[in-house]
Amino acid sequence: MDFLRPLTWEDALAAKAGRPGALPVQGGTDVMVEINFDVHRPEALLDLTRVGALTEWDTTDGRLRVGAGVPYARLITELGDRLPGLAQASRTVGSPQIRNRGTVGGNLGAASPAGDGHPPLLAGDAVIEVESAARGVRMIPAAEFFVGVKKNALAPDELIRAFWTAPASGPQYFSKIGTRNAMVIAVCSFALALHPEERRVGTGLGSAAPTPRRALDAEAFISGELDWDDRGPLAESAAHRFGELVRDAASPIDDVRGTGDYRRHALAVMARRTLTWAWNDHRAATAGREAS
Ligand SMILES: Cc1cc2nc3c(=O)[nH]c(=O)nc-3n(C[C@H](O)[C@H](O)[C@H](O)COP(=O)(O)OP(=O)(O)OC[C@H]3O[C@@H](n4cnc5c(N)ncnc54)[C@H](O)[C@@H]3O)c2cc1C
Repeated sequence: MDFLRPLTWEDALAAKAGRPGALPVQGGTDVMVEINFDVHRPEALLDLTRVGALTEWDTTDGRLRVGAGVPYARLITELGDRLPGLAQASRTVGSPQIRNRGTVGGNLGAASPAGDGHPPLLAGDAVIEVESAARGVRMIPAAEFFVGVKKNALAPDELIRAFWTAPASGPQYFSKIGTRNAMVIAVCSFALALHPEERRVGTGLGSAAPTPRRALDAEAFISGELDWDDRGPLAESAAHRFGELVRDAASPIDDVRGTGDYRRHALAVMARRTLTWAWNDHRAATAGREAS
């Protein structure tokens, strides 16, 4: 197996163009497991760990651009205040070792329906920046990035450069059901983001369908129900209906981790809970701002 180790982003794109069959490797926490278990044997590995640009993040026009190679541990410590939903999800990924190596870029590359990075990216309207030497940059909304079970929208000559998202403008939550508290693949997961300036709620479902997905009807319903002007309490009936609509957006399977029925039920519970937490946080934060 050939081992390619570009030192710059341009060289990485050129290497991928020349060898579309070369498998990119960032943290290696998915790739090396699959090689060790002989799931597949790529003709070459394209090691991206020396491409410094992938491990940087910055802010442009008020939006965060986070390199595909920024590991979960750094997302938590460096961006936890600006991306609280993604930071919560990152804290649930694997173990400290996995969080030190594993990246959102790798999560997107693997495109597992259970990837914990995906629901917060969906709820936060993230856009994925991908690039090829031949055609340049493409910006793909997270909702269009996942095209099938463990399949993403990347062309064979493309690499993931970064994801773009706005810093949180309101409370964000991530909730995950597992068979134990750590080192566990999600039975199902749910992310919620309040976008108060747009009077909108974003959602993301994980392990609930062939791909991570948003619950669009639930978003439309609750965005219209919430009392954005006076920030009155969340009506129990509205929270309940929101949970039902999130549940209805799922099309989960029965598998070793849980049944479809259990997943649907758990999603409704997580949706109600995270909405309640987020709305209460929003009310408390705005009440605090008005009092000071
Ligand atoms: C013990 C253990 C526990 C885990 N727990 C969790 C968990 O709780 N939640 C969870 O979501 N995942 C978990 N994982 C899976 C894995 O850690 C994550 O998917 C992680 O985000 C992968 O990131 P990585 O940088 O290591 O990816 P890699 O293994 O390097 O790559 C993963 C995929 O992405 C592709 N890729 C990487 N970088 C790029 C790029 N720049 N452009 C295009 N393609 C690219 C690779 O070719 C490969 O297909 C776990 C894995 C292990 C081994």
